[in-house]
Amino acid sequence: MSTEIQQVVLASNNRGKLNELQHRLGGLGVKLLPQSQFAIESVDETGLSFVENAILKARHACLVSGLPAIADDSGLEVDALNGAPGIYSARFAGTDATDADNNQKLLAELRGIPTEKRSARFRCLLVYMRHANDPTPLVCQGSWEGFILEEPRGDNGFGYDPLFFVPTEHCASAELPPEIKNRLSHRGLAMQELTQRLKLQ
Ligand code: IMP
Repeated sequence: MSTEIQQVVLASNNRGKLNELQHRLGGLGVKLLPQSQFAIESVDETGLSFVENAILKARHACLVSGLPAIADDSGLEVDALNGAPGIYSARFAGTDATDADNNQKLLAELRGIPTEKRSARFRCLLVYMRHANDPTPLVCQGSWEGFILEEPRGDNGFGYDPLFFVPTEHCASAELPPEIKNRLSHRGLAMQELTQRLKLQ
């Protein structure tokens, strides 16, 4: 990337993601702008994979803003459920499901399954598109291995964090301080890869 300031839209309304990514990309002369600044509405996530959904979101943000865009898509893959909830993680228990509803459904589906068969991972796909017709988007990926607990632990984070046991830290993801989670997590790893690849442009 050149030394000029490059404005890039983040196709998300999540402040936490914006701050975290801005922190990483600031040194590269990237100024991240939230999609709300362009009145960009969320697109329907009609893809059948994380990467398709991330591209749909990034392309839409490029089209509306006329700027390069970054989008992510993430979720939880549980081995005993053949990879579910996967791309449906946010709506596992229904379209208007809360985190608590989704967690309850996950516990119900895994009832009776022993610890060693409760392996799971969070995945994050992060896409950078230079423009809406970019034929070679940068596609970065991070995953974070763990196990699904039998009951929730911790108050930090969001989504499935209280049920996701992180073996390397001996605690649930919701028990980790945010800076540790940002370093280890699927999203942190995907952001790290994107930062490296943009540095090489
Ligand atoms: P999104 O791609 O950030 O919208 O995340 C989709 C869904 O995946 C969220 O609603 C959560 O249910 C789940 N998810 C993704 N990342 C995490 C995480 O870091 N912790 C807990 N749940 C997550």
